[in-house]
Amino acid sequence: MNYQAVLEDIVTTLRPFLGADGKVASYIPALACIDPKQLGIALHTCNGEEAAAGDSATPFSIQSLSKVFTLTLAMQRLGDALWERIGREPSGSAFNSLVQLENEQGKPRNPFINAGAIAVADRLVSHVQGKGNRGSAKADILALVSSLCGEPIEFDAEVAASEAATGYRNIALANFMKSFGKLDNDVEAVLDTYFHQCAIRMNCQQLARAAGFLCCDGAHPFEQDSEVTNERQTRRINALMLTCGTYDAAGDVAFNIGLPCKSGVGGGIVAVVPDRLTLAVWSPALDATGNSLLGMKALELFVAKTGLSVF
Ligand code: GLN
Repeated sequence: MNYQAVLEDIVTTLRPFLGADGKVASYIPALACIDPKQLGIALHTCNGEEAAAGDSATPFSIQSLSKVFTLTLAMQRLGDALWERIGREPSGSAFNSLVQLENEQGKPRNPFINAGAIAVADRLVSHVQGKGNRGSAKADILALVSSLCGEPIEFDAEVAASEAATGYRNIALANFMKSFGKLDNDVEAVLDTYFHQCAIRMNCQQLARAAGFLCCDGAHPFEQDSEVTNERQTRRINALMLTCGTYDAAGDVAFNIGLPCKSGVGGGIVAVVPDRLTLAVWSPALDATGNSLLGMKALELFVAKTGLSVF
């Protein structure tokens, strides 16, 4: 299949709709000032083929896409013990919702809502302490994504500072979990990790490559004979993306697109066609559920044009 032509066609089809609908995330100035009229798309296949179109080289704030990488790191480090603190059920609520946590004694529904990702960050901080405090969870996260991209990836310091300055809900979520004894570390240390992971800057080409292990049973995107996650772990990450990766839109996304997807409020979405390819799309204007409006349209077009789906 000529993937390059497919991606270019998608960008050409959607370009007239850029800026027409949706709203860029406005909770921090660094995201509120992003030009909504941008659309990038890139893919990385199991054989290492890459294709990209539109604004695929423009870096953006990956936000909740980082939850895929922190989950990967926590699965590598903790194995099944991770699931003692975090569930695997779709929440049916917004990504930053507080309501379920009280009923469920501070155990987050899944690792892709904010509460779940904060619990994952707590596990990563504990892992570093277990090593005698050598390094930091933040450095471990950057090391993983940089190794998956084959180039250095950085935090956007301005975004990280704004996340911390305005993160009232995330601070509430972390304190709530702490009150139930579900966080082992200081709330400040855990949130510092979480706020920084949200502030990682990457472009679509880097994301498609970095998440490339998800389409090929966990094999490293370009290092021969190196495994990021094993086959079972990879299947599980994809299952969680399909059921929980787009918050309370997960049912609609499965219905309309039929691929495991993870979204972020920076406007990025990563989607996986198991045994074939990983896609990354980006367009900053969001719908009411916090998912990229044209990003989802781009994925719908990709599925329609290629016939690729898990169903
Ligand atoms: N930084 C955002 C938050 O913590 C990330 C949410 C998202 O991308 N859905 O609320």
